[in-house]
Amino acid sequence: MLQDSFGRRVDYLRLSLTDRCDFRCRYCIPDGYRGFQAREKWLSAGQIQRLIGVFADLGVGKVRLTGGEPLLRGDVLAIARAIAETSGITDLSLSTNGSQLARHAEALWDAGVQRINVSLDALDPAVFRSITGGRLEPVLQGLQAAKAVGMSPIKINMVVMAGINEHAVESMVEFAAKHGFALRLIETMPVGSAGGAASRHLIDLERVRERLDRTLGLEPAALRGSGPARYFHVRDTGLVIGFITPMSRHFCASCNRVRLGADGALYPCLGSEQRLQLRPLLEAGASDRRIREEICRALQGKPERHGFLPGVTVLQRGMSSTGG
Ligand code: SAM
Ligand code: SF4
Repeated sequence: MLQDSFGRRVDYLRLSLTDRCDFRCRYCIPDGYRGFQAREKWLSAGQIQRLIGVFADLGVGKVRLTGGEPLLRGDVLAIARAIAETSGITDLSLSTNGSQLARHAEALWDAGVQRINVSLDALDPAVFRSITGGRLEPVLQGLQAAKAVGMSPIKINMVVMAGINEHAVESMVEFAAKHGFALRLIETMPVGSAGGAASRHLIDLERVRERLDRTLGLEPAALRGSGPARYFHVRDTGLVIGFITPMSRHFCASCNRVRLGADGALYPCLGSEQRLQLRPLLEAGASDRRIREEICRALQGKPERHGFLPGVTVLQRGMSSTGG
């Protein structure tokens, strides 16, 4: 069992398949960014499969594929299938920007991906492009394809930015309610080379929650396995909205996760530079037992809470390389 020095049990791994992406979300990968990892440094599908087995032995039952954009990786389906078939893994999910989802949805479902989170920050194509640099239409098609194959729940992740899409929340609420998606609103975290932009547009989501409460009526919802979000039902609708507030109300005390970068770096905390390089261990022929011991030792260094401060970029690496 994986437990840190503060007694927090870790049973959830977020696995970055690549740090690359076809979008350039202004809070994540700035335009012109050149710092991507060399592909030769990525873990192979076989190395990933082995590490997932090691994590499963340590009691990790939930895995989320993320990135960067995980659907850009050519062997994503084979990796998903291998993880879903690993003894002890009971929940496999995916975070995606949705740009390639329409053509992959059915195969992902067949491979064992049960549920997905799709990033969607705006429903106006021009605003969407100004935030992500990409096209809205394929993302909307991807959402419908995921729904058609039966993925559930489908959660929309909307990063809310002051002065950019702050007032598009109401139309996103309407869209999510109409299509039966859950909606999660997220505060920007100041990380990596997009940290400055993230800080400039940071908004305290409590303001948005109060506004929605006044206009729509929100009732606290107790959802099992809800992770960092505080959930609310929208009165008289089936819609659930989650608020993810790492900046204004951190949720570190209930953190249950670690992250594995595409290059095999294990990050016990999203908000700390501390890491354990697992790839060198694999390449040196370390036994499963030795790898388990190293992971347990690294977990003892998981800090009590992240070190994010509004307006200060404390981390060199961005969300796309950590597996946000
Ligand atoms: N490309 C996929 C996507 O966009 O869903 C998966 C990776 S992305 C890094 C995972 C999540 O991190 C997305 O929901 C994205 O909005 C969020 N994210 C990225 N940078 C962020 C930041 N600086 N602050 C808050 N959330 C961020
Ligand atoms: Fe790409 Fe996701 Fe980062 Fe946007 S948030 S740039 S889609 S990795």
